[in-house]
Amino acid sequence: MSHEKRIVTCTGPHDPHAFDGIPLRHRSGDLDRRCPLCAGHGQWNREFDLVSQRSKRCICDKCDGRGWIETGDDPVPVPDIERSEHGAPRWVTRFEPSDDRE
Ligand SMILES: [Zn+2]
Repeated sequence: MSHEKRIVTCTGPHDPHAFDGIPLRHRSGDLDRRCPLCAGHGQWNREFDLVSQRSKRCICDKCDGRGWIETGDDPVPVPDIERSEHGAPRWVTRFEPSDDRE
């Protein structure tokens, strides 16, 4: 028995279904404004299966997946992995100078 599939391909965040199933990102840190490219989602669907709701997604370059951008001088939080004193990797948040002024 074959599974029915109806896959739509999105060329970018402006296509229909590009944000299906993707929640808005919560604002983190002092970021100022919703990303104009992904409208606060941080990613969009490259392919979306209308039947199973499965998707292949890509991360937004403009905001690096944060969904929000910094328009002033505040540092931008960047997720990173560092090694703890016990040698185990852990997630940390680094703050980098904003490089995205408008
Ligand atoms: Zn974005």
